[in-house]
Amino acid sequence: MNVPVDHLDHRVRGGWTPSGAADADLPAHARRWLSARTGLTPTDTPVAPDSGLLVSESVLPAPVRAVLADIVGAEHVLVERDDRLGRTGGLSYVDLLVRRGAGELPVPDAVVLPGDPDEVLEVVAACASHGVGIVPFGGGTSVVGGVAALRGDKVAVVVLDLSRLDKLVSVDPVSRLAVFQAGVVAPEAERMLAAHGLTLGHFPQSYERATLGGFAATRSSGQASAGYGRFEDMVEGVRLATPRGDWRLGVSPASAAGPDLRQLAMGSEGLFGVITEVTVRVRPAPVWERYEGFVVDGFAAGAEIVRTLAQAGVLGTVTRLSDPQETEVALTLSGGWKTTGVKGYLRLRGISEPSLLVIGWEGQSKDELLARRRATLRLVNGAVRLGTRAGEAWRHGRFAGPRQRDALMDVGMCVETLETATYWSKLGELRESVRDALLGSLTAGDRRPVVACHISHSYETGASLYFTTLVPRDPDDPVGQWRRAKQAASEAIVGLGTITHHHAVGVDHAPYLPAEIGPLGVGVLRAVKAELDPSGVLNPGKLV
Ligand SMILES: Cc1cc2nc3c(=O)[nH]c(=O)nc-3n(C[C@H](O)[C@H](O)[C@H](O)COP(=O)(O)OP(=O)(O)OC[C@H]3O[C@@H](n4cnc5c(N)ncnc54)[C@H](O)[C@@H]3O)c2cc1C
Repeated sequence: MNVPVDHLDHRVRGGWTPSGAADADLPAHARRWLSARTGLTPTDTPVAPDSGLLVSESVLPAPVRAVLADIVGAEHVLVERDDRLGRTGGLSYVDLLVRRGAGELPVPDAVVLPGDPDEVLEVVAACASHGVGIVPFGGGTSVVGGVAALRGDKVAVVVLDLSRLDKLVSVDPVSRLAVFQAGVVAPEAERMLAAHGLTLGHFPQSYERATLGGFAATRSSGQASAGYGRFEDMVEGVRLATPRGDWRLGVSPASAAGPDLRQLAMGSEGLFGVITEVTVRVRPAPVWERYEGFVVDGFAAGAEIVRTLAQAGVLGTVTRLSDPQETEVALTLSGGWKTTGVKGYLRLRGISEPSLLVIGWEGQSKDELLARRRATLRLVNGAVRLGTRAGEAWRHGRFAGPRQRDALMDVGMCVETLETATYWSKLGELRESVRDALLGSLTAGDRRPVVACHISHSYETGASLYFTTLVPRDPDDPVGQWRRAKQAASEAIVGLGTITHHHAVGVDHAPYLPAEIGPLGVGVLRAVKAELDPSGVLNPGKLV
């Protein structure tokens, strides 16, 4: 087997951190703050032993297993309990609860590991002809149920694990293009590009585990989106294995040859085909980098600064504004308030609602970077400068969130995120509506939720809002507690913004998609699906 289950140890554990990793501990001061602020009575919530989880027997018919083994080799068709468990579900809070024993696991009947795009094509054709569902699986970091192995009306459902499609196919430094197989994990892509002095510049918080195919299939957006763009902006071409055959798209940097069909693959979430190769636009790796922190008085004042920067075209490569609640959570959990005395200093400077603004610039030369910095800072008015220490602290911890979530879950917290986007004129109203919905739904007895929010992706016309909610877990109904809150937040979003800015639709957002794209939109998606996947085997139960 090419991918030992060890690589998926974190999933088996029910978290992001591999078993026994020390960096998932929550400091004592953070526990004290959680108790005082949210009403948490810390409990040690041990992760359910893997052996205690209920895993149904595989129902993959033996003849289909034999056909698949003929294509990829018997050692790449896995039906053992642990292998299937390792590719069960994604990494949302509810997924992790279920792994910790709180519900039914969507376990696939088998895991198939093709070795190249041609094998993917053959596997897809074989599953289509035998009526077996296929769930494309990249890093498995979906937080919307995108990789849940739902069998639906199919005879069985297999996870198509793309981890063996791990190659850089070609680099064209003149055109600044690179072709990758879809299963390449983001850090590997950066490592392979670094050998050519290039970067992709896509750094979502799931960077360490997610794949390029997954990014394309979900229209992912990274922390440096202001500098490098969203993932779909980077995609120049795709190769898709569909039940109707191989489909290659993208021959030039721009085209007027009808609608841009590459966009059908972006955000298709495995329903139209399996992305086997992605051609991406790459850039020279940055030589100079500078990250700085600022504090603004209140979210509205900060959003006004970010809007001004976006509309003047002078955003940093990273531009990220935390609201006062997120600023409090981030600085308290990291110990920042205490160790640096920032809180007292800000009070002296007349800031009553500290909102942290982090701006990072990356460039090829010091002069270029400083010129861009000057252009940005000319429009950052009314902010207190914290300097590079605060900026670097954010950069240092930029991928720490998922580990912190594991630690918070371990002490009995419900901790989950959701995101949306809207136009600047509606941003304040959307933030208030979602906050009210989450607070209203989660406040109960001694449980006092904290709802924190930030802007991390900005455009000329609007921005994303990313919410993190912290509340003591309801021990009697942990899944229902979050599901009700998520429903309230989603209903607050509909009509004001998009149901998802970058997490995609999956299962969780599917009920809200028709309101956003209308019945005609749903019809168009169904028609495309019927054309490419007539027997409906690709990722059953997602998107539409
Ligand atoms: C802690 C955490 C932080 C996150 N932060 C961010 C963030 O900052 N920005 C962001 O955009 N997202 C974020 N996400 C969400 C998630 O990481 C993204 O959706 C990511 O793009 C998924 O990549 P993946 O390889 O893990 O895909 P998977 O989770 O394996 O799959 C996601 C969906 O795409 C389909 N799919 C995967 N590969 C293919 C393929 N080759 N062909 C066709 N369909 C495919 C799957 O069937 C599924 O529907 C985060 C998730 C977590 C858990």
